[in-house]
Amino acid sequence: MFYVPTRIFFAENALAQAKGKILKLGRKALLITGKHSAQKSGALDAVQSLLKEGGKDWHVFNQVSENPSLETVMEGARELLDNGCDFLIGIGGGSPIDAAKAICLVAANNTRIEDIYNASLYAKAYPLVAIPTTSGTGTEVTPYSVLTDQKAGKKAGFGSELAFPYAAILEPSFTLTMSPKVTLHTGIDALSHLLEGLYSNKRNPIMYPMIFNGIKTIYKNLPKCMSHPDDLEARTEMMRASLYGGMVIAHASTTLQHSIGYPLTTEYGVPHGLANGIVMRSVMDLYYPAIKKELDSLFEYLGISRDQFYQWLEALQISLDFPISQSFIENRLPEVLSSRNMANNPFEISAEDIRKIYHELKEEE
Ligand code: NAP
Ligand code: FE
Repeated sequence: MFYVPTRIFFAENALAQAKGKILKLGRKALLITGKHSAQKSGALDAVQSLLKEGGKDWHVFNQVSENPSLETVMEGARELLDNGCDFLIGIGGGSPIDAAKAICLVAANNTRIEDIYNASLYAKAYPLVAIPTTSGTGTEVTPYSVLTDQKAGKKAGFGSELAFPYAAILEPSFTLTMSPKVTLHTGIDALSHLLEGLYSNKRNPIMYPMIFNGIKTIYKNLPKCMSHPDDLEARTEMMRASLYGGMVIAHASTTLQHSIGYPLTTEYGVPHGLANGIVMRSVMDLYYPAIKKELDSLFEYLGISRDQFYQWLEALQISLDFPISQSFIENRLPEVLSSRNMANNPFEISAEDIRKIYHELKEEE
């Protein structure tokens, strides 16, 4: 089955195209953003102008930081209810959009903080419009929200059909202000999602055209976006690839490639995409024997060998600039092994496999 209920507007004037659909959602919007980028990218101003023209009211909640916490979700839900909002617009990278996806459920179902991950309790949601300003997570078309449980020191996600946004507005110019670092990290996240569409035991050939094309698009355009941040054509291509990545993981889910990175983010603050990038080669090596047919046809399609792909990755200079500790590896192993995404690996992954990948990152002791 292939199912994405989100209305996707992907164009230079996507917001204007979606105007009628957005304005009919309610009277007052809660705009959910991070601290700076919604403003910097021009997306927040564009949304406010649209709402003003349509005679709609709004309230801004701009307190979402990277890897949003359960507490932020509770706070956002309170802001929605206290301000009488009846629809939401999430603007930003994956963090504000994931927070918005949880907020529209928590506010509608009066959910307690300890139940946020329990998707079976959700019966309804406020309508949400998602406006990405990064090209990476694809969260604008997935049923997932990834949140940080600060008390448990853990990052984890939940999935609910009700979390699919009502509409996704993809305007590539909103990504022009990304720094080369954010461009690289988010682009690598999109690449991870597409590769995981091949790795996952839920892989489905109906998605291969999107996966192959998406990966080729990133292979060609990510280096361009880093060297020429103003290249709107390359930014547009990256946004399309990221969208494909979202539609792919909405069905195939993520795998070890993602589970192994979450503890690096919670313990060391490694950005999500970077955490994926530093283990990408090791995970591909581990999976290769099981996914040989798919990966060989991918490299044939790209017109390069696996080694050339690794050289391309290396040229992007994705690395940690600090060592990780032995105690981190042992403490976090159970968390990786028990994470939700591990159900999707192409074969049973052992503690030793994970230890080996972490060890390849380790430089101290
Ligand atoms: P992000 O955490 O949303 O943002 C990273 C940084 O980029 C922030 O400092 C942000 O600034 C800045 N930024 C965003 N857009 C910008 C722009 N146009 N110009 C300049 N700076 C900009 O990054 P992300 O990689 O997009 O999202 C990562 C999160 O999504 C992680 O928590 C990850 O686990 C999650 N994720 C979710 C899914 C899913 O399906 N739900 C899939 C993959 C990943 P501000 O703080 O000022 O906004
Ligand atoms: Fe991701």
